[in-house]
Amino acid sequence: MLTTGIILFASFGYMGLLFAIAHYGDKRADAGRSIISNPYIYALSLAVYCTAWTFYGSVGLAVRSGLGFLPIYIGPTLMALLGWWIWQKIIRISKVHRITSIADFIASRYGKSTTLGGIVTIIAVMGIIPYIALQLKAISTGFLLINHYPDISVSYSELPVMGDPAFYIAMLLAIFSILFGTRHLDATERHEGLVAAIAFESIVKLAATLTVGIFVTYAIHNGFSDLFQKAGELAELKNPIGRESGDVSSLIFDRYLMIKGQGNSYMDWSIYVFISMLAIIFLPRQFQVAVVENVNEEHLNKAIWLFPLYLLAINIFVVPVALSGILRFPDGSVDADTFVLTLPMAEHQQFIALFVYLGGMSAATGMVIVETIALSTMICNDLVMPVLLRLPIETGGHQDYGRLLLTIRRGSIVLVLLLGYAYFRTIVEFYTLVSLGLMSFALVAQFAPAMLGGIYWKGGTRTGAICGLLAGFAVWTYTLLLPSLVQAGIIPQDFVARGPFGIALLKPYALFGLGDLNRISHSVFWSMLINISAYVGVSVFSRPRAIDHTQAALFVDVFRYSGEAGESHFWRGTANLPDLKSLLIRFLGKRRTDAALAEYADKHKLSWSYLATADADLVSYAERLLAGAIGSASARVMVASVVKEESLGIEEVLNILDETQQVIAYSRELEKATAELQEANRRLQDLDRLKDEFISTVTHELRTPLTSVRSLAEILHSNPDIDADQHKSFSGIIIKESERLTRLINQVLDYEKIESAQMDWVITSTDIKEIIQDAVASTRQLVEDKNITIDYDLNVQAPPISGDRDRLVQVIVNLISNAVKFCDAGRGKITIRLTSTDKQVRVDVQDNGIGIKAEDQSKIFEKFQQVKDPTRGRPYGTGIGLTISKRIIDFHHGNIWVESTPGKGSTFSFSLPTALEAALSR
Ligand code: ADP
Repeated sequence: MLTTGIILFASFGYMGLLFAIAHYGDKRADAGRSIISNPYIYALSLAVYCTAWTFYGSVGLAVRSGLGFLPIYIGPTLMALLGWWIWQKIIRISKVHRITSIADFIASRYGKSTTLGGIVTIIAVMGIIPYIALQLKAISTGFLLINHYPDISVSYSELPVMGDPAFYIAMLLAIFSILFGTRHLDATERHEGLVAAIAFESIVKLAATLTVGIFVTYAIHNGFSDLFQKAGELAELKNPIGRESGDVSSLIFDRYLMIKGQGNSYMDWSIYVFISMLAIIFLPRQFQVAVVENVNEEHLNKAIWLFPLYLLAINIFVVPVALSGILRFPDGSVDADTFVLTLPMAEHQQFIALFVYLGGMSAATGMVIVETIALSTMICNDLVMPVLLRLPIETGGHQDYGRLLLTIRRGSIVLVLLLGYAYFRTIVEFYTLVSLGLMSFALVAQFAPAMLGGIYWKGGTRTGAICGLLAGFAVWTYTLLLPSLVQAGIIPQDFVARGPFGIALLKPYALFGLGDLNRISHSVFWSMLINISAYVGVSVFSRPRAIDHTQAALFVDVFRYSGEAGESHFWRGTANLPDLKSLLIRFLGKRRTDAALAEYADKHKLSWSYLATADADLVSYAERLLAGAIGSASARVMVASVVKEESLGIEEVLNILDETQQVIAYSRELEKATAELQEANRRLQDLDRLKDEFISTVTHELRTPLTSVRSLAEILHSNPDIDADQHKSFSGIIIKESERLTRLINQVLDYEKIESAQMDWVITSTDIKEIIQDAVASTRQLVEDKNITIDYDLNVQAPPISGDRDRLVQVIVNLISNAVKFCDAGRGKITIRLTSTDKQVRVDVQDNGIGIKAEDQSKIFEKFQQVKDPTRGRPYGTGIGLTISKRIIDFHHGNIWVESTPGKGSTFSFSLPTALEAALSR
């Protein structure tokens, strides 16, 4: 027989078991052998989503509105299956930035704003305290019911606080949360024991639900169809609507399975699905288990189908239990929210009843524990810390803030639970489980624009986020919170019935005449509309600060910046290392600080003994460490107190960028100049070398004829009686050699004159044919000596040209003597061609000599250039003949070029404008 003693023993025994599991989990974690590091535990911990509301409330809701309980589970299922990538991104960002809570997340995204962190915390507390109260109510109701076993028709007479087991359970939960939720200061460090206990609770509540479901369906009734049949008969009995008998299924659907509710039910359904999609991500407890406690991002891959499976399993018997309850208590004397417990009680199944009672407790306590820890982190880091930091704190002191922080966090846990209990004792009795839960969902949905906008839209600003959140919160307060106070008798009835001051347009349940939706949908519609508009509108028009830019980029592009480099390096300044270290020690403790710094030193191959200042990189690292303990916004304030310089403003960043760009451009310019200088230098060196060569060439060229002239002259001088023939031959050679000398000297002098622009040009109108004839005549001896044939046909018409006759002769002489020089004696053949048009005359001098390689063809017109052929050695000459020729042709506005095939011969050509053409173009 279930006595009060046994029930209390079971209750506290169950709590004891939780403590033991958590303790074991932590011990295993400390030993480095985690029991939670697998996707199954992760999925089970996500099931903290299913609270007493699911456990008791779903059946109640099914009784009142058919399948109306389902959207709350469809939403999370959709999110898990379709929106897992949002989760993935949030998890990655939180890991990189050591995010501790949803308030911290939003604050961090919008420039580590303490204001935003505070706002989110207050909203979360307001939304979650009633939700916690709801759980305590469930525990209390459960106890009251089972305590009267087997009598079901209990009066819900209030227990005195001191005699209410729910109060003691609440205090036990506070102790549990303190023991397993605040073991270390670093809130990003996982609470393995806690997660293990939560996973265990998820198993218990599922097992209890399935037990009662199977019992009801297969023990009380004969399976699903039997149950539906009976329910159909009952419905027909109660509501005869003239259907043909036998059409039971349609009746069941009419009565129980159709979507019911006030107003537009499709709209209501969609909105319920929508807010529960958001709730599964943004409820503080879900953020805690899914993000903060996540061991490994990959666990998400399995959880996204395991978790929906869990939701399916826990809901499978909702309708059968609801139908069975209606059949068992047709007069409506028993609250449908309690059917899961009252049905086994009515059947005198005390063990099942006790198990169900414990299942309800597990659903309620799991939620309370995680939610309390999540809220306490937020209250401590985003509400209390920023205020504390504004107080004058000596940063150089040795006070241990770590302890203080833990005390604050533990105090917040007790406070949250006391508030929850107080709320339950004073207000909750006026509401059903579901309405309070949905109010909470509607409020938490307000985080969505700032969160989702924050991770997918860089344009979202701090001001935009603040405006959106405040606007959404205000609408929620007006359309849900205030009217709910009417129900509790705190605000007069007229406020809801006729609108404030009788203004019907402002009726809180039918704002601006929108009366078709139920209260929750109505509130969600308006609050989200105004929230999103404010967020987007203000963001577009507000000017982001530099840090907003950085954080926006780091959040939105987290997958690009992942890893250690993911943190903003926004500190320009350095910090005194001892200052920074003492700051860390005071929040993290000496052991952890030393370990963290050692890790950093290791990674960056630093030796602390040489370091006195911390550079920007190390300062950012310290900020990240602190963020894990006290939240990103407070960490920033604390680090700012030891950093020597201000953080960068956007203007400064832009200036620096500008400067950098200028420096880059300047150095490029310098490089180019340097390259040009190098090139010029190289050319100068080449020329210098060529000049040296030229001097030695000229000297050599002069000496050879001089030597022969001199020796022949000596012979003639010392042998006056030499015979006439010999005398003639010797003096002939002397004349020839001296002519050669003269030519050579003239060439050099010409070159010198041309280069220094001191040549005297004698311009007359002349005939190109005569020029060719003169040139051929003056090279005749050269050609004959080498036994070379020369061909030319001057029987063509050619217009006169105007130019310096002697110089042009010199050009052709030059070309012919080159051709002679590079043709084989005896086999050489030179062809000279003259062609003309109205505008120009052209002369080609073709030979069948050695030819010129393509790469040398352009070079030979440059000064001192001679083609050196390794097999033939240096050619006879000075290397300035073609240079002079080119200068002469250039002077006449003509062109000179060569076409040649090595081994086959070369054709040097030049063209000159006709006299008429030259006159016209002048
Ligand atoms: P140089 O005054 O010593 O004759 P040029 O400036 O006239 O020098 O010629 C430069 C170089 O061009 C020669 O040393 C020779 O290597 C090459 N060259 C000129 N004309 C010919 C040709 N008809 N066939 C082959 N090589 C030639």
